[in-house]
Amino acid sequence: MARPQAKAARPAPRRAPRYIYAFGAGRTDGRAKMKDLLGGKGANLAEMSRLGLPVPPGFTISTEVCTHYYAHGRAYPAGLRAHVAEALRRVEKALGRRFGDAARPLLVSVRSGARASMPGMMDTILNLGLNDATVEGLIRESGNPRFAYDSYRRFVQMYGDVVLGLKPESKDEEDPFEVALQEKKRQRGVTLDTELDAEALRELVGEFKALIKMRKDVVFPEDPQEQLWGAIGAVFGSWMNDRAITYRKINGIPETWGTAVNVQAMVFGNMGADSGTGVAFTRDPASGENVFYGEFLMNAQGEDVVAGTRTPLPIAALEAENPTAYGQLVKVRRTLEQHYREMMDIEFTIQQGELFMLQCRVGKRTAFAAIRIAVDMVRERLISTDDALRRVEPDQLNQLLRPIFDVAATRKAFEEKRLVARGLNAGPGAATGRVVFNADDAITRAKSGEPVILVRIETSPEDIGGMNAAQGILTARGGMTSHAALVARQMGKVCVAGCEALVIDYRGRRMRIADRPEIVREGDFISLDGTTGDVYRGEIPTTASEVVRVLVDRTLTPEQAPVYRLYAQLMKWADKVRRLRVRANADQADQCANAIAFGAEGVGLCRTEHMFFGEGKIEPMREMILAESVAERRAALAKLLPLQRADFEGIFRVMQGRPVTVRTLDPPLHEFLPHDEAGQREVAAGLRVPFERVRERVQALHEFNPMLGFRGCRLGLVHPEITEMQARAIFEAAANVRQAGVAVEPEVMIPLVGHVKELAMQADIVRHVAEDVMREKGVRFRYLIGTMIEIPRGALTADEIAGVAEFFSFGTNDLTQTTLGVSRDDAGRFLVPYVSEFEIYERDPFQTIDRDGVGSLMRVAAERGRGVKPKMKLGICGEHGGDPASVEFCHQLGLDYVSCSPFRVPIARLAAARAALRA
Ligand code: ADP
Ligand code: MG
Ligand code: MG
Repeated sequence: MARPQAKAARPAPRRAPRYIYAFGAGRTDGRAKMKDLLGGKGANLAEMSRLGLPVPPGFTISTEVCTHYYAHGRAYPAGLRAHVAEALRRVEKALGRRFGDAARPLLVSVRSGARASMPGMMDTILNLGLNDATVEGLIRESGNPRFAYDSYRRFVQMYGDVVLGLKPESKDEEDPFEVALQEKKRQRGVTLDTELDAEALRELVGEFKALIKMRKDVVFPEDPQEQLWGAIGAVFGSWMNDRAITYRKINGIPETWGTAVNVQAMVFGNMGADSGTGVAFTRDPASGENVFYGEFLMNAQGEDVVAGTRTPLPIAALEAENPTAYGQLVKVRRTLEQHYREMMDIEFTIQQGELFMLQCRVGKRTAFAAIRIAVDMVRERLISTDDALRRVEPDQLNQLLRPIFDVAATRKAFEEKRLVARGLNAGPGAATGRVVFNADDAITRAKSGEPVILVRIETSPEDIGGMNAAQGILTARGGMTSHAALVARQMGKVCVAGCEALVIDYRGRRMRIADRPEIVREGDFISLDGTTGDVYRGEIPTTASEVVRVLVDRTLTPEQAPVYRLYAQLMKWADKVRRLRVRANADQADQCANAIAFGAEGVGLCRTEHMFFGEGKIEPMREMILAESVAERRAALAKLLPLQRADFEGIFRVMQGRPVTVRTLDPPLHEFLPHDEAGQREVAAGLRVPFERVRERVQALHEFNPMLGFRGCRLGLVHPEITEMQARAIFEAAANVRQAGVAVEPEVMIPLVGHVKELAMQADIVRHVAEDVMREKGVRFRYLIGTMIEIPRGALTADEIAGVAEFFSFGTNDLTQTTLGVSRDDAGRFLVPYVSEFEIYERDPFQTIDRDGVGSLMRVAAERGRGVKPKMKLGICGEHGGDPASVEFCHQLGLDYVSCSPFRVPIARLAAARAALRA
């Protein structure tokens, strides 16, 4: 938009940049929309304050400070200290306390918070401001020395870990602070942290400080200002720690975003039996059911609930424990859902019966829950159907289609007493694999292709690489909101958490299960049912999901399948808004039937060569390849004709008049012959030809670069009888099915065309055969002849090719190979670092269309093709047709359809709908 001249001429007054945003202390500067600047946590703390919810006052140091910090060799912008001091004064004033004051000390938490939530990735410090003087003030004020020393020892522990770096030094070492704490409990003969008295806790404070001095050679800072800036520096520093970097990589979060720092007045859940802390979701994050879902612990602080050191109680139990606080919380739940129109994830603390809100954010959920919540919220009139579609990621549908344990095999495992334990059903699905006890081993084994189950006492952010590599995750401690559960749900991993019967021995690389004799060692198979929480010894085969059983296996009716019904509802909405049609790549009648069940509107790619590997077909195919004259080749082709025709008849019958694109023979011929001597001898014997002839033929067919060799339309040009036979099989099948009263719509597709003459010559053959067949059979039907656009010359001369072709289908696998000059089969060595390390391509170009390169060629081809034939049908049949980002690009290009594997059809339908909504 053009600005008025006068304004542009006058430079804006130079205001000091704003680094700090207050909340809760009489003034709130931020709001939920300001996540880029305040991070998710800061923005939502501000929003909750605005909603009038009880949020302890504080302030947010913006992400711009983080960016500045890293751009200037880890230095803060000028004036930051003065701004922080001023913001802190506001909080002091609001609460009538002073930071560092020995009589009425203000204690704060220093919390990280990036734009996208990174659960557990960054470090938080609680109870900051405590020292040997202020702890006395806290005691006098609260009359509760145990509480004061509990807070103090937590602070020293967190500060020692996060700021001063006293952490376990090897993957088998336990946290040194925890070791000291355990030792103290052993000395006092107690089992719970809460049973340690004030004196024991006071001793621990001293011991912790000594430990820090000994191991780190630094003195624990008593000065609250020094503590504060140490903590702020640590939060900014944690943006670049390994686990944060790994998390960003996995989730595609740019490094440039930076984190904010939140400094907030403390409230205390550890003040005794009338205090506590908890986390909750406004709906069940696993199933999506509209119930208040969460966990709490009385007399506990912060991380206790998530850390899994004590097993928390379900939120419903709070009603009995503290009805007033529970009532307030239920109201907050309603307020938040009505305001955000989303399922929210909240953190709260109860201090002596009074509720405080410490965090809220949109809750992570399983795919099941995402769909259920989206559909329910439409019915509750909280959101529109378009919103519902925007809220389900297409790839989440994968989780719905994923296998579950085979029922018979599970019963058998049960009868064999292999059900050894039960934990919390934290991440639904079925997983079976070999046990590993740490993340590194999970990664190594998974790389070599083994399915693994990562077993940990509890997981921490250091484990995410291993969690990502594992099929499933099993933990001994922690609840439904533990780190393991949270991260697993987000990754879509199977997870059983808090399985308390496990007795894990990291050093021995083995575990026992309470009350059972057997020992499970590293490398042994176990199976996890993340939907029930069951843990089995050994392998259990898996079976189809509910959606697949309704649609494909037909072993369930929709009435018996609630998950299916939600899926069907969402898909109905998707089909209403999408413009792109969705077809499937399928070569056989049964695959076509599956494709239709998943909503395919046609076949976008039938690879005829796959048929040749079927029963009884490979022999005549080989005969054809070994033929020494045209006559011999025709004889072999004559044997193939009825076999191909029968296959096509099956497909046409299933497809019931939907378009079916059949591609003529594409791969190099040597793919049909064995390359080892034993195999070649077998072929020779079977076909009654000398072994030498087979070997010579294989040698003659050898190519240095088969991808660019004798394949595609080149085969049909040199051996026109092959195309002739295939065209005849297609059209005879079409005629027969048509005569049986079923509509047909064949589309013959010529592969690897770079020059219009290639297509013209092949099209000529196909048209002649079509005319012949229609005359012979006395029936007429419509058919199309088109081509794949899969080499750059074809794309660049699309206007010429469009003179002959009636449709284009982008073969983006080959188009990517030829445009990038990268052979997919040889890319293994460099493509991974190309993407993840050098960041040359943002994503794997074989998974997501490289819009700038391959995409440009597609655009050129589409424009030039339609310049000649404005209504020309355009589609895509490469692997990319099932990738949501690529589907969106196809929508933008104005293609008519995408085609993908049958199981990705629902994903493509949803992606197409979302692309239409975004456009
Ligand atoms: P994370 O991002 O890892 O969840 P948080 O900053 O939310 O870290 O803090 C960790 C824990 O400490 C949470 O349980 C949170 O509720 C609690 N906490 C943070 N700030 C305060 C505070 N000012 N008073 C009481 N508890 C707090
Ligand atoms: Mg939190
Ligand atoms: Mg190809």
